[in-house]
Amino acid sequence: MNYSFRKKNKTVKYVVIHYTGMKSLNLAYKKLSDKKSNVSAHYLISTDGKIYNLLCLKFKAWHAGKSRWRNNININDYSLGIEIENKGHKHGYQDFTQKQYAALKKLVNFLKKSFNIYDKNIIYHSDISPNRKKDPGEKFILKNIGVKRFKNPKYTNMNLSLNNMLNLYGFHKYYINNHKKYCIMAVKRTLNYKKISSKISKNFLKNFYNLLFS
Ligand SMILES: [Zn+2]
Repeated sequence: MNYSFRKKNKTVKYVVIHYTGMKSLNLAYKKLSDKKSNVSAHYLISTDGKIYNLLCLKFKAWHAGKSRWRNNININDYSLGIEIENKGHKHGYQDFTQKQYAALKKLVNFLKKSFNIYDKNIIYHSDISPNRKKDPGEKFILKNIGVKRFKNPKYTNMNLSLNNMLNLYGFHKYYINNHKKYCIMAVKRTLNYKKISSKISKNFLKNFYNLLFS
């Protein structure tokens, strides 16, 4: 099992949601517990809704990799990682099961209370590493776990630029400046679009605005 110690000035404020992207639960479990894999996570949730606690929460798991969010870099330092069983985009992306949503809802509520984590800080791997990661992906329905990530106060200024909105969403400025098309794709996944492209239509801008402000 891979882990490291948390530094005193870097405390948990985010929960990062992932999918396993492996062909089976068994393979995912093996990979997450194998020291040679260079990855790990605090929790794994199977399709039948079982929650496996893989690592003590006081330790840092290696789930995020190269990542940035808001003004933070290396999100492993500030987060807990939850892997949800799903074959992923490479091996046959599936709908998440109702049992998974029920289990995740319970788990996230427990973590929110234990670590004083805000709804806005329940985030996706695709948000913090948009140029590398797609998980949990466009089939993940956030409202099924009762989290309201976006509750920005209504802006009176209706003419926000796309960059303003990407910034309000939470992307680190490095990604907005260098990987904007991947940021757009990440937002489309959050919006549960069926087709994910970096195309910017009027409709997309409207949906993005509504995501942030309604
Ligand atoms: Zn991931």
